[in-house]
Amino acid sequence: MTDKMLKFVKVGLETPNKRKVDKRVDDFKEIYDQFIHKKAEEQSSRCSQCGVPFCQIHCPLHNNIPDWLKLAAEGRLQEASELAHSTNNMPEICGSICPQDRLCEGNCVIEKAGHGTVTIGAVEKYITDNAWQKGWIKPIKILKEINQSVGVIGAGPAGLACAEELRKSGYKITIYDRYDRPGGLLIYGIPNFKLEKFTVERRTNLLKESGIKFKQDFEVGRKISFEELRKKHDAILIATGVYKPREIELPGFDLKNIFPAMKFLTASNRKGLGDKVENFDNGILNAENKDTVIIGGGDTGMDCVRTAVRQNAKSVKCLYRRDRENMPGSAREVRNAEEEGVEFVWLSNPKKFIGTSQISSVLVERMKLGKADSSGRKKPEPIPNSEFEMKADMVIKALGFDPEDLPKLFNSPDLSISKSGTIKINLRTMETNLPGVFAAGDIVRGASLVVWAIRDGRDATVSIQKYLEQKLNKSEKAA
Ligand SMILES: Cc1cc2nc3c(=O)[nH]c(=O)nc-3n(C[C@H](O)[C@H](O)[C@H](O)COP(=O)(O)OP(=O)(O)OC[C@H]3O[C@@H](n4cnc5c(N)ncnc54)[C@H](O)[C@@H]3O)c2cc1C
Ligand code: SF4
Repeated sequence: MTDKMLKFVKVGLETPNKRKVDKRVDDFKEIYDQFIHKKAEEQSSRCSQCGVPFCQIHCPLHNNIPDWLKLAAEGRLQEASELAHSTNNMPEICGSICPQDRLCEGNCVIEKAGHGTVTIGAVEKYITDNAWQKGWIKPIKILKEINQSVGVIGAGPAGLACAEELRKSGYKITIYDRYDRPGGLLIYGIPNFKLEKFTVERRTNLLKESGIKFKQDFEVGRKISFEELRKKHDAILIATGVYKPREIELPGFDLKNIFPAMKFLTASNRKGLGDKVENFDNGILNAENKDTVIIGGGDTGMDCVRTAVRQNAKSVKCLYRRDRENMPGSAREVRNAEEEGVEFVWLSNPKKFIGTSQISSVLVERMKLGKADSSGRKKPEPIPNSEFEMKADMVIKALGFDPEDLPKLFNSPDLSISKSGTIKINLRTMETNLPGVFAAGDIVRGASLVVWAIRDGRDATVSIQKYLEQKLNKSEKAA
């Protein structure tokens, strides 16, 4: 990169929140676009087109990566975009937020040979962003509308992918969601520094223009009963995600300024979307100038620490009871967070929250790794008399999520669920024990990834379509 480009890149990166709209930004954009274009072509041409595409095998959508890299390297970007869209409903979103180091890129043959992976996700994003810019991505035009309808509960990636695929076949689709905006965790969970929200809005607007109806602020089980919804539609997809935060029952748990991760992240995302957020504006859910402690070493924990950094927290510490090697969060995210100044306190566990009315510190105990448990992971054990106090003005609990009690929420005690509360499905058809009711995404898998939710949504489409065709045949025979 030339010095001039470097200067502009720095301008663009240094001031994401305070960026002034001036000529420099336009100049920056032009130079940056050229730079990204060159980079994407360079990266694409690094693909060795190896015989066994391990990247494709390890992508949950089995994206045809080598072929779209070849097309991109040859500058055939429209074809590359069409190919990328043939297996993925949101390539630019996956390109931005898939943990590629665990999926496609982690299995790139060039990476394995020690020469650094082809940056597959970045190229996927580039190809699709470029297609949007050029106006190549268009709403679905169906040849003939089929007089059968599907009700999709949940406008997250699983519900959206299924809705889009079914609409392509001509079915009438209504998506019901309890949030005020569609997108699920793409909108209110994943922070906007990782995923620009306009990319999600662009996708959901396209679905609206494709004739899919959205009913927001519409909680199934409250606004409409599940039974009523089943009568209204020929088939149902449940794609409600998992939202019940896991808790730690510690002394002092009810002190002020201890929050579940989603509360903290939603406030920050709403602010980024331009909403008025009273509890952010009055400082309660804002980490600015606070000693902030995040509990949990998963991806949600990483998003919380990096959000706190961006809010100008005084200090950000992450407590995790195992060590770096055994951390569930992406290694790349940990590196990013460390570079941004986050301190990871490995092998540590909170024992008590201390304060009068609000939190002032956390009593932390040191841990060591013992023998492996039934899951094969080494079990963390406390080290006696190792406690120390850690100053904290704000604590965020990021310990994972469980499913809500759907049979109760839906007043549908017959809906079959697993011990952990996820919905049980026939793994071949994705149908639940209730005829015509299918399920996909986190509510089936437990907390997982966007790319898996898209995969599930697409798989469910195939079975739903089969079910609807059989239903139509039966009713035609009966008539
Ligand atoms: C903080 C955070 C960061 C993450 N970061 C990443 C990441 O970087 N990369 C990645 O791949 N994955 C990430 N994930 C995981 C990813 O977001 C989820 O796996 C994915 O969104 C699941 O998709 P889904 O469609 O199953 O559910 P969701 O995205 O959760 O969508 C479910 C939708 O259902 C709606 N709903 C629930 N109940 C009802 C009801 N009764 N009536 C109507 N609507 C209802 C909800 O409002 C929601 O919109 C992250 C998760 C979190 C929490
Ligand atoms: S969808 Fe995710 S795993 Fe698949 S190629 Fe794209 S970034 Fe890689």
